Amino acid sequence: MSTKRDYYEILGVEKSAAPEQIKKAYRKKAIKYHPDKNPGDKEAEEKFKDAAEAYEVLSDDNKRARYDQYGHAGMSGAGGFGGGAGGGMNMEDIFSHFGDIFGGGGFGGGFGGQSRGPRRLKGSDLRIRVRLNLEEMVNGCEKKVKVKRFKQADGVTSKTCPSCNGSGQQVRVTNTFLGQMQTATTCSTCQGIGRVADKIPAGANNQGLIKTEETIEIKIPAGAREGIQLQVRGKGNDAPFDGIPGDLLVVIEEEEHESLKRDGNNLHYDLYVSVPDAILGSSKEIPTVNGKVKIKVDKGTQSGKVLRLKGQGLPDLNGYGKGDLFVHVNIWTPTHLSKEQESFFEKMRDDEHFSPEPSKNEKSFFERVKDMFQ
Ligand SMILES: [Zn+2]
Repeated sequence: MSTKRDYYEILGVEKSAAPEQIKKAYRKKAIKYHPDKNPGDKEAEEKFKDAAEAYEVLSDDNKRARYDQYGHAGMSGAGGFGGGAGGGMNMEDIFSHFGDIFGGGGFGGGFGGQSRGPRRLKGSDLRIRVRLNLEEMVNGCEKKVKVKRFKQADGVTSKTCPSCNGSGQQVRVTNTFLGQMQTATTCSTCQGIGRVADKIPAGANNQGLIKTEETIEIKIPAGAREGIQLQVRGKGNDAPFDGIPGDLLVVIEEEEHESLKRDGNNLHYDLYVSVPDAILGSSKEIPTVNGKVKIKVDKGTQSGKVLRLKGQGLPDLNGYGKGDLFVHVNIWTPTHLSKEQESFFEKMRDDEHFSPEPSKNEKSFFERVKDMFQ
């Protein structure tokens, strides 16, 4: 490979040049060395290509930063400039940038008799909402949804657009102080597709599309949750004349669980135990996303104790394990007692076993909350 000139030097700008200056400098070079103005001049063509290559790099913040740091060496390989052998640009690439350099359609594609092909249209995306319960979010699921989408009607035929002869573009030749210039604009008859409808079946619109209702099966991966958007390729609206169909975007909504509260990947459950259960110990059934499980309430359990069931939360969306289920123990104080019960507790009022004696290692509510979020 030949040694390359510095990109800043090619465009004749300072290393600190602002994007506007770079654009302006490139515009000047492109006009000067444009092949239409220098027919058959190989040297001009090379300079034209060099300028385009320099602009390609210096107009892109990322590429420019990499070039500033590593020079031409930073421009090859994956993600680098060109990518292909030699790293050169072809004329297609160069002309494709002219839209933003010169505004409007630029010089058009008329270099060396080549013309750019018509644009392939893409259908629009559709968006639907799907409600999931906790179990479905944890385990993943399949949902059947009804979607109203535009579909290419059966029997629709198309023909080459008569306005642009299928190129998708209308080329205008204008005289400027630089000489004759070609300007290409998107064909207004076919919107750049190059084809128009010929035979349109009943019920279809003028692009041969018909509105249909389709049942689509969506696979929802484990870990989905509120606000996540899934993409089902090709299930949006069809594009006319065998274009690329749009996508179906599925927005996840969360159905609230009756007793489990979600906080990120973790779940929380409020367990209420009676005074005797807290005093004597007990076994309690609690709901999890994978069915009910039994947990042990130790003898002498204090109100506010938090039990942690590892891995019983939601799977992390990025695959980093699973959240936990926190069981918060609340001791239920009875509000109605019989005379006998009242007299029993009356007798216990001054009993030493009933007077609070929080030990040093008993954590306060605030400490427990702090621990949970670490
Ligand atoms: Zn056309």
